[in-house]
Amino acid sequence: MKESSSRPGFAVFLVLLLTVILPGKGHALSLENARSEKLSLHAVLDFKVRYTTGLKALRKNGAVYVDLRSMSRALRLYNTIEGNRLSVTWSDKGMKTICLLTAGSNFASVRDENATDVKRVFQMRTAPVLKDRSLWIRAEDAVRLYSLWMNRQISYNGKKGRIDAFLWSPRPDSVHSTVGIVNTEDRTTGPGFVPRYTGPTTLTGLNVSELANGIIIKFKATGSKTPASYIKPDSLGNATLTFQHARGTPAELHRKFKGGFVKEIRAMPIGKGAMQIDIAFNTEFFNVKSSDFTWDPRTNTYKVMVMSDVDVKSVYRAEKEKRIAQDLSRDARKWLFDTIVLDAGHGGKDPGAIGPSGTREKDVVLNIVLYLGQIIRKEWPDVKVVYTRGNDRFIPLKQRGKIANRNDGKLFVSIHCNAARNRSARGAEVYILGPHKNKDALRVAMLENEAIKQEEDYEKRYEGFSEEHMIMSSLAQNAFTLQSKEAARYVLKGMMKKTRMNDRGVRQAGFMVLWTPSMPSVLVEAGYLSNREEEKMLRRLSFQKKIAVGIFDGLKLYRASYEKQRLASDMETKAKG
Ligand SMILES: [Zn+2]
Repeated sequence: MKESSSRPGFAVFLVLLLTVILPGKGHALSLENARSEKLSLHAVLDFKVRYTTGLKALRKNGAVYVDLRSMSRALRLYNTIEGNRLSVTWSDKGMKTICLLTAGSNFASVRDENATDVKRVFQMRTAPVLKDRSLWIRAEDAVRLYSLWMNRQISYNGKKGRIDAFLWSPRPDSVHSTVGIVNTEDRTTGPGFVPRYTGPTTLTGLNVSELANGIIIKFKATGSKTPASYIKPDSLGNATLTFQHARGTPAELHRKFKGGFVKEIRAMPIGKGAMQIDIAFNTEFFNVKSSDFTWDPRTNTYKVMVMSDVDVKSVYRAEKEKRIAQDLSRDARKWLFDTIVLDAGHGGKDPGAIGPSGTREKDVVLNIVLYLGQIIRKEWPDVKVVYTRGNDRFIPLKQRGKIANRNDGKLFVSIHCNAARNRSARGAEVYILGPHKNKDALRVAMLENEAIKQEEDYEKRYEGFSEEHMIMSSLAQNAFTLQSKEAARYVLKGMMKKTRMNDRGVRQAGFMVLWTPSMPSVLVEAGYLSNREEEKMLRRLSFQKKIAVGIFDGLKLYRASYEKQRLASDMETKAKG
């Protein structure tokens, strides 16, 4: 088999293989619902012929995509499409080359007319998309591809919606894209001089050293020096290095980096024994300041040096985004409805209210609280239940709030039974902390606050607990007032439905036990022990269970509403960020 026909076969195979195993770097792109975009092409053919043509273009997610058939026509290139393959022909001084693109493949191959071997392979950042019997790619990619393939200065200005194509002469050296023939040892040869190539070249290794402000990529070689061309990174950060004659193992010349200035270096043998190296720079955070390509005859090393400028704005933006994401996830954890604190009023030496038949508040409420805890544990395995007391013992009022705070509770529910001089008073009410709105509320608060007198040194402990402090602490609880009110409403509603007690409403009063917890807090007065009938009901286990179930029904409504509100506010924060 002739050498010229065996190698092309391999190259074609390689392109197909790469097309299959490297189907684009991102997810499949769709141009559905893209809106049309104004894009024009200004071409200069020679000193007399220049023209402007409108191109078909679409915009999606901030990127502009151009119809390659309309762009090819504008550049006066013959093109045909068959299925998902677009072939474009460029005729330069009678030499025709064909560029072949396939929808979904990041690789474009170039071959001479009437030849089967692939001459060059270009890797694009995005794969072309098939739409309206044409292929579409990002304008930056289109310009880079045509510019490299045709060796003409073609540039894209996204702000002006304009592509400039200078087709008159081969691409000159420029800041944006440079082709340099490596020719360092012979100073007598001018640019464009191609030394006679004498013998095989093998690329034996790749070495990358990152500097503080740039990078040096070294290709170690054996054998004679090969002409090579280097095309500086374009606006997307893609640079191309082509060794006109070189062997080497692509796997050994492949590097991938995370988070640095260079993203990836990939080697690809192309037609006629050439080797193409694609270097992808990370232009998201770094700007390419300058770029250079040299050959060191002493060590037979080809060196690409790229100096970078950190794009400070992008780094700050990325850091800010990261911080917001972290804050959001921390907030989400903070607001997770994961702990509920159940507080059975009184206990130990403090019996609370005592009914005419001797029923003690501390016993009734402990039963209700323990039932309620059982239901929550069963129904909500994801919620931790904390009891301020799980048995008959005395706990100072302030201590109860501290237990709630220490456990990072998301709701504090204190359960009591009421008592009044008026034996006919009956029914249930739910309190939240706040200034007493009426005498009755004040009376209940005073009654429940009485418990402090059972504490040793209570005068010292609650020194400063005055009306003024009450207002201060209710201000502190203000942050939770809305949530507390909502919880109170739902809990009362649930209880009413299950027990059919007299509904005495949601009220505000200065309960000391609600003073300390830093979370939405409610105090349930589950009926009057001073009322003979209610005392009879309240001492029954079945009725205590009913109250617990009713409270839980209310908590279910509260939790659903709470989580819905958190979600909405999270989304709002995200939208603002
Ligand atoms: Zn009580």
